[in-house]
Formats: sequence, structure tokens, C-alpha cells
Amino acid sequence: MYLVRKRVHAFVRVKPTADFAQDMIKFGPDNKSIEICLKKDAKKEAMNSRQTSWSFRMDGVLHNTSQEQLYETVAKKLVSEALIGYNGTIMCYGQTGAGKTYTMMGATADYKHRGIIPRAIQQGENKRVIAEHALNKHSSRSHCIFTIYIESRFRFFSDIKCVNSKINLIDLAGSERQSKSGSEGQLLKEATYINKSLSFLEQVITALADPKRDHIPFRQSKLTYVLKDSLGRNCNTVLVANVCGEAAHVEHTLSSLRFANRMKWVTTEPVLNETYDQEGTVKALEKEIAFLKQELAVHDSLANRSLMTYDPLSHVQIEEIKSQVHRYLKGAIDEIDIVNLRQIREVFRQFKLILRQV
Ligand code: ADP
Ligand code: MG
Repeated sequence: MYLVRKRVHAFVRVKPTADFAQDMIKFGPDNKSIEICLKKDAKKEAMNSRQTSWSFRMDGVLHNTSQEQLYETVAKKLVSEALIGYNGTIMCYGQTGAGKTYTMMGATADYKHRGIIPRAIQQGENKRVIAEHALNKHSSRSHCIFTIYIESRFRFFSDIKCVNSKINLIDLAGSERQSKSGSEGQLLKEATYINKSLSFLEQVITALADPKRDHIPFRQSKLTYVLKDSLGRNCNTVLVANVCGEAAHVEHTLSSLRFANRMKWVTTEPVLNETYDQEGTVKALEKEIAFLKQELAVHDSLANRSLMTYDPLSHVQIEEIKSQVHRYLKGAIDEIDIVNLRQIREVFRQFKLILRQV
């Protein structure tokens, strides 16, 4: 069993704006830190603190980042590790309008604006992938969890290894505080519920960060219950704090950065149930294949078969086999010469294709 301690990776994405508060929000030169500066008199009371500048170190601060760059930085590795068996979770956190849904789903009208979910499914591509919604309703007032279940099969000679994993992609409900939103009635109820579930999420995260805690209160809310095998522990976990760059939103920005900062301290232990030395196995297999090709060449020359090749069939060869099969079915030829296994397989494949069309 392979065990590494990892921590949650936290990123900040700043929504592009023409009205960027450049005297309040500053980026570090390596794009891994972000500083919030407030003028002393202006916001002091509201912030309930004498501190006027806060600096946060993140795994990446993404501003003016395309959807593609964001995917590369935030999701790509997690998705490829999911394909070999590690569960993964990516969460977007932040106030309403800060770009959580844009980051997760993207703008559907333009292909290059597609977000993490469609890209992950595409990377997920030649394996068997089943996608499912849970706990959702597509609204900023509820959490949206998108789960991709992955079943990967690896074949080693007669050995087939099967790895099941999943990726949770979570567009969390807007994080704005109830007292600030001034909601009433049903809206207030919803806001309270959301604030509660986000604070339960935070409690779970804090508990996970403490190595001495053995009880993690996953059962406190539906959200944390759904995420019980997707946060910490057996998972690669990434948080994207979506923030707005305007001065008017700076308090929300600060609170989202604080949340991201707390998340960073959570260590996770991604566990892969089935594993082996991949690089070593590939090298050994390459050697074995080269040896078997030599062996085949010897057999061919002993049997006086020249010009045999065992490489994958070319497009031209496949077309030739297809035409042979068609000629055979029309009665134009009586038999199809058997050349090698690849050719036999292709012949059967062509028969199947024809049968399917009938
Ligand atoms: P949230 O889900 O956090 O409430 P949205 O993702 O719906 O916010 O974003 C609000 C609006 O801003 C949407 O119209 C969205 O297309 C736009 N938007 C958000 N982030 C970006 C971005 N990085 N680049 C361009 N437009 C963005
Ligand atoms: Mg949204």
C-alpha cells in the first residue's frame, strides 16, 4: 500500500474586472501570494480589527487566467490521478457572482470557455465514465455536486486490475454572510441553511486538519455527509476561492481568502488500493515485446515466411481487409487468407460492423 501525506491545494481565482481595486489587492511576483490592504479609517470598523493588511500564501493566484490555463493548473493532475485510482475533489468557494459556476461549468456558448467539468469528462475519455448529479438544482442558493465515477481496467497478460475511483466537482453555494445579505422570509431561511452547511463544512475541515482528532463530524449536514470520502483522507483535494476584484467586495474577498488559508492546512492521505511500480512494469513489458518480436522473426524465417509484420495495422491494410470481407460476403472470393492475429481480429471486427448495419 502506498501512502503519502498531502495537504489541500488552495488556489485563488480573481474574476476579471475593468474596475480592479489595485490599491487594495496586490499579487506577489511569483503569483502565489495575494495581499489585501485596507485604508485605516475607511474599513477599520467593519473589519472589526486594527490590522489593515493581510497576506495569504496560496498554491497559485490566478488572475487573467483562461479556462484552459485554469484547468491545467488546478485540475489536470487530479483528474489523471483519478484515472489510476485516487479519488479527487475540486471545490469552488466564494461569494455569489465571483465566478464559481464559470470555473466549474464554464460558458456553454463558446467551446474555449468550457469549465472544469466538461474538460474533466473529456480527459476521463477512453475509460468508462459515468457522470451523475447529486444534491443539486442549478442555483447559486444551493450546493451543486457533480460526481464522475471512473472504472479503469488495466490488463497485464492474463491479469486484469480494476480500479474504481471518483471525482467530485463542487460548486458551493454563495458564501456571503446572512447578516450582510439582508434577506427576508424564504430567502433568509435558505441563507441560514447555506451559512450553516458552509460552517459545518468548515468544522469538518478544521477537524481534518487536526491530527489528534479521531472523530470528524461528517454527519452534521448533508453536504459534509456526501463528501465524507472525498475530503481529506483518501482524496486529492483542491479548493478554488473565487473572488471579485472590485473594492466594494473586498470584505467578501478577505473572508474567502481566510477560508482558503484554513483549508490549506488540511493534510490528506491519498490512498491507492491497487498499485505497482508502473515505470518498471512498462520497461519490463517493452523488453518482453522486443524479445517476442525477435522470436517471431526467427520462426518466420524458419517457416520461409518473409515480409511478415506484426505491427498495428495501417489504415490501408484495414481498408484492404474490409474490402476482402465485403468480397467474401458477395461470393467474389471463397476464402480469406489468415495472416496473423491482428488480421483475424480485424476480419471479425469488419463482420461485426456489417452485422450491426443489417
Ligand atoms: P457564481 O457561480 O460564483 O455566482 P458565476 O460563475 O455565475 O458566479 O459568474 C458570474 C458572471 O461572471 C457570469 O456571467 C460569468 O460568465 C462571469 N464570469 C465569472 N468568472 C469569469 C471569468 N474568469 N472570466 C469571464 N467571465 C467570468
Ligand atoms: Mg453559481
